[in-house]
Amino acid sequence: MEAPKIIVAVRKRPLSKKEMKEGQKDIVEVQGNTVILREPRVKVDLTRFMEEFTFNFDAAIDQFCSNEELYKSLVQPMVQAAINGTKITCFAYGQTGSGKTYTMLGDQNVVGIYTLAAFDLFQMVPNAISISVSFYEIYCSKLFDLLNDRQQLVAREDAKGQVNIAGLSECKVNHVQEFLKTVDMGIKSRVTAQNSVNQDSSRSHAILQINLRQSNKMIGKLSFIDLAGSERGADVVEYHRQTRIDGAEINKSLLALKECIRALDLNKNHTPFRGSKLTQVLKDSFTGNCRTLMIGTISSCHKDAEHSLNTLRYADRVKELRTPQSSNAADQLARELMLPRQYNMNNQFFDGHSAPRSISPPKLFELDEKEEDEIVYHEPNKNLNLKDKHEELIQKILNEERALKTAHRDHIDDLVDLTKEDMKLLQMYNQPNSIVEDYVDELDRVLSLKIGLIKKLKSRLQQFKQHLMDEQDLSLQCQTHFYQKQHQN
Ligand code: ADP
Ligand code: MG
Repeated sequence: MEAPKIIVAVRKRPLSKKEMKEGQKDIVEVQGNTVILREPRVKVDLTRFMEEFTFNFDAAIDQFCSNEELYKSLVQPMVQAAINGTKITCFAYGQTGSGKTYTMLGDQNVVGIYTLAAFDLFQMVPNAISISVSFYEIYCSKLFDLLNDRQQLVAREDAKGQVNIAGLSECKVNHVQEFLKTVDMGIKSRVTAQNSVNQDSSRSHAILQINLRQSNKMIGKLSFIDLAGSERGADVVEYHRQTRIDGAEINKSLLALKECIRALDLNKNHTPFRGSKLTQVLKDSFTGNCRTLMIGTISSCHKDAEHSLNTLRYADRVKELRTPQSSNAADQLARELMLPRQYNMNNQFFDGHSAPRSISPPKLFELDEKEEDEIVYHEPNKNLNLKDKHEELIQKILNEERALKTAHRDHIDDLVDLTKEDMKLLQMYNQPNSIVEDYVDELDRVLSLKIGLIKKLKSRLQQFKQHLMDEQDLSLQCQTHFYQKQHQN
């Protein structure tokens, strides 16, 4: 049986010591491959009740599961496939503080799944295959090389439609210690940048790529991706414009990512790679022989209920449109994976009688009135309400900003050319027996051209400024709307 192209897993992190001290409640339960979130709510008449949300995934991972266990069950089989020539991609998606970095890259005390993969790779890969690593970050839709002093990089699509990141370091590593040292350098460079230039890792996607090459030809690739905090997509109500624009960019990249993963499973010809910088650079990982593991990470804490629900819904939608065959394949795979007993509370995941794969129960989407009206930024819906309008405008602004910069660059080039003509003209007029009428006509022509150039750029700028002002207005309206809704509750 063919292995599933996509596996969607959700991992619950335990309450932190601090949360326990504060008396926060754990509202997430993992049963087999089902995640149940129970949110305490209050009705209009002030009676309390519990709202229950249930989701099924290919794997649900509880708070007792270690990175090693997670690795063994979900990642190790993919590493084997990578050696056999499959492109492997693992994502961690979730709110900031939900365990993405813990899972992917680990921390001081715990090794991340990339380390575990590296140990296996160096053991399993035959000598003829070389291993190299690249590590970069997407921040504000710009690329930074984490293995080369955060040098900014540019992604280019060539005539064959292949996307290359020009100048990206690829460090050949000969043994596992060298590999770990190299990546560690990248992780440190990420952290340093975070502390120095007012940057925040919750706003950046970190992409760690391990390449397997035989006589310089790429034969397999593994990517481990620690995504930007999913809550950042909602930054569109923030006060600072740059924060709103970054938020929109992150929202766009996470939506595009979902579409690309889905398209992968549906074997669609058209995949919306161009939708964002993230999906553009991952294009190669989504084409041809490839497999993807998405791990949605959620906090179990009741104060994070809204974000956890968003993550569960996102993960649910990634697999929602899955073809029935591949869904069976995922079941099959799940049964084949020999997970340790403590993997979850009652091991239903592998008994073959797990709850039927959702189509989520409609109850989950029966939002009550106040929710229906709420501004939910993560899923654009069809009718053009306030937030859709805002989103559209942000997209327009992002495009215009790019176009404006290009126009500005062209403008400078044109001006330089014209200035050269100017200089030539002056030199000529300084020659004996030059004709003053010619000089005057020529200078007039050059000046008119310059005025034309400036006018053109200025009118473009004017339009852009107008849209920035419109955005400010619209954002204010959104905030007012949001505020009113909150205070109605
Ligand atoms: P994110 O990268 O999503 O912002 P982190 O990975 O930094 O979140 O995790 C936030 C905190 O929670 C860290 O202190 C981390 O050690 C802890 N943590 C996350 N997931 C787990 C887990 N599964 N088990 C134990 N601690 C966890
Ligand atoms: Mg993190």
